[in-house]
Formats: sequence, structure tokens, C-alpha cells
Amino acid sequence: MIQYIKNIWAGLSSTFIGMRITWKHLFVKKVTIQYPDERFKLPEKARNRLYLEMSRCNGCNSCAIACPVNCITVETIRVSPDDPHQEVHYNGKDRKLWVSRYDIDFAKCCYCGLCTAVCPSEAIQHTTEYEYSVYNRESLLYKFQTLTPEQVKEKERLLAEFRAIEKVCHPEGDAKPAEKKVVDKKTE
Ligand code: SF4
Ligand code: SF4
Repeated sequence: MIQYIKNIWAGLSSTFIGMRITWKHLFVKKVTIQYPDERFKLPEKARNRLYLEMSRCNGCNSCAIACPVNCITVETIRVSPDDPHQEVHYNGKDRKLWVSRYDIDFAKCCYCGLCTAVCPSEAIQHTTEYEYSVYNRESLLYKFQTLTPEQVKEKERLLAEFRAIEKVCHPEGDAKPAEKKVVDKKTE
């Protein structure tokens, strides 16, 4: 009988102790919010999902080289002088490379921000977007290129034609060094 009363007392006292803590927290400042209706303000330099502004991207590949997990893939095509659609960059300089492919695999990205740090034109930036869960990994492969497959083929054709003409004019294969360098970059 005594044990029975002791058990009741232990139960009651632990309830009172728990309720005392609960009551205390009713009158202090709240630290939780009603997510997702309410959200904390993100820090200014928060690193969330990336975005590429293609009009600023010159295809230099620096971001892909800097990425520690190889989640960026950049492919480029040299702009043929015969291309009727020449483009001028944000800084007034002519576009030298078409970006035929620009992929970021967010399933691998560790949000280190190195790609944004090395980009010479601030083309790649972190956004404020951090909610983009998906049901399969393939959906995390983001493609930022703006050229359509048909346009890519057309750019390749124009460049091939230009090179063929160059070969006729320079049969010894003395292409300018800058042009040789671009060919190498394409495979980066
Ligand atoms: S944030 Fe880091 S891991 Fe993600 S794409 Fe940029 S360099 Fe790669
Ligand atoms: S570093 Fe910047 S400009 Fe160069 S390829 Fe990457 S996003 Fe484009």
C-alpha cells in the first residue's frame, strides 16, 4: 500500500515539474516560427541554389575547374566570324565562345561557393532558394544553356565551314595560337 502511494506521488510530482517548465516557457520570448508560413531572414551571404545568368557567361570554364566535386559541366563552341548572330557581352566585348552546355548537378553540389568566387563576370551566383527537394536525382541536374540543340548544330556547322576555309588558306596548319587554345577548352 505504501509503495502504491509512493508511485502516485512520484507520478504527480514529475507531472508538476514538467508543467512548471512548460508554464515558464509560455511567458518567455519564442524562438520557433510557424514554418513554412513564417521564415527566418537569410544571412546576406547565404549559399543556396545557384543560378547562371547566361548573358554574362563567357564560357571560360573557371567555375568547373574550381568546383571540388566536379558538378559543373561546361562545353563551348568558338563563335565563327561568319555567324550572323554575333553577341555582345554585358561589358561591351564580343562573345568569343557560345556556351553549348552548362549543367550543374545539385545532387553533388556542396554549396562551397568556389564557383561564384572565381567567376570573372559574376555570371554564376547563389540565390535565396533553398527548398527544391525532388523525388529522383535526375531532377537535380539543372541545364542553364540557352541555345537549342538545333542552334548548337548550326554553330558547329558554321565553325566547321570557317575552319575548312582557313585550312585552304593555311594548308600547313598554321592556325593562330588563340584558335588552337579554344579547341582544347571545348573538351574541359
Ligand atoms: S558551390 Fe561548390 S560544389 Fe557547388 S557548384 Fe559551386 S564550386 Fe561546385
Ligand atoms: S566562371 Fe563564370 S563566366 Fe566562366 S564559365 Fe563559369 S559561369 Fe561562365
